[in-house]
Amino acid sequence: MAIERTLSIIKPDATARNITGKIIAKLEEAGLRIIAQKRIRWSKAEAEAFYAVHRERPFFNDLVAFMTSGPIVVQVLEGENAVAKNREVMGATNPANAAPGTIRREFAENIERNSVHGSDSAENAAAEIAQVFKPEELVG
Ligand code: UDP
Repeated sequence: MAIERTLSIIKPDATARNITGKIIAKLEEAGLRIIAQKRIRWSKAEAEAFYAVHRERPFFNDLVAFMTSGPIVVQVLEGENAVAKNREVMGATNPANAAPGTIRREFAENIERNSVHGSDSAENAAAEIAQVFKPEELVG
């Protein structure tokens, strides 16, 4: 299996509730290694650019407002099959559909305030990582 990298974001609902450590524990227990991490607050333009693929969706404006409402923790996770492994430990977008033991099942408030983001393909991961981190910030 290939060693991959993926972008993870701990969202404002989770930083507000001071549960970043609980989420990080789940990621590490899944075998994912944090090789870059920083706490930032996005501007509207940064959030709009990150979620540009969803621009036409009805939830876009609310999502941008939510993602700029407080601090986020952005991370690069590395490991075997990291993209799929992170999606698995995150759980389904809607916490009502997320499997027991997943981050979203345990911590998400609702389909929007769902605690974490994870890239959905290796290709998108590379683009998302480049948007958030400088190459020298990744320490593998
Ligand atoms: N989202 C939302 N309403 C929806 C679907 C998605 O508010 O009906 C938000 C939610 O925060 C989600 C993000 O938009 O995580 C991106 O949606 P996507 O379908 O890409 O889900 P993900 O890949 O995060 O599971």
